[in-house]
Amino acid sequence: MHKGSCLCGQIRYEISGEITGVLNCHCSRCRKFHGAAFRTRAWVRTKDFRCISGESLLTHYESSPGRLRTFCRICGSNLITKLRDNEALYGFPLGTLDTDPGVKPEAHCFVGSKAPWYEITDNLPQYQKFPPP
Ligand SMILES: [Zn+2]
Ligand SMILES: [Zn+2]
Repeated sequence: MHKGSCLCGQIRYEISGEITGVLNCHCSRCRKFHGAAFRTRAWVRTKDFRCISGESLLTHYESSPGRLRTFCRICGSNLITKLRDNEALYGFPLGTLDTDPGVKPEAHCFVGSKAPWYEITDNLPQYQKFPPP
């Protein structure tokens, strides 16, 4: 069981299944949403994700059509992305986890949008968009 919480601690969640496809996304939307060089994101199955407190504080911003990026309305912590065209999966940023997910980033994506002040110094593959399936 993976567990996590937002910065103010009012939203708490559990993930009962696998966290898959971990990527560091350098796109400008992820950079701005996180206020960071990149978003480390993955997939979780919607049926595996459960808010155990504070679900009513989860609000969202539709950053592109059908992509609802959720965050805590009190502290602003970035949480799951809901996909209007895929009810089976959530996009999931790893930053609010309180437990070790046991997985690590596999690649960097959207590196063409990388912040000029950040240098990728690892040997993970780099992609202009998402990695090929
Ligand atoms: Zn919060
Ligand atoms: Zn992105």
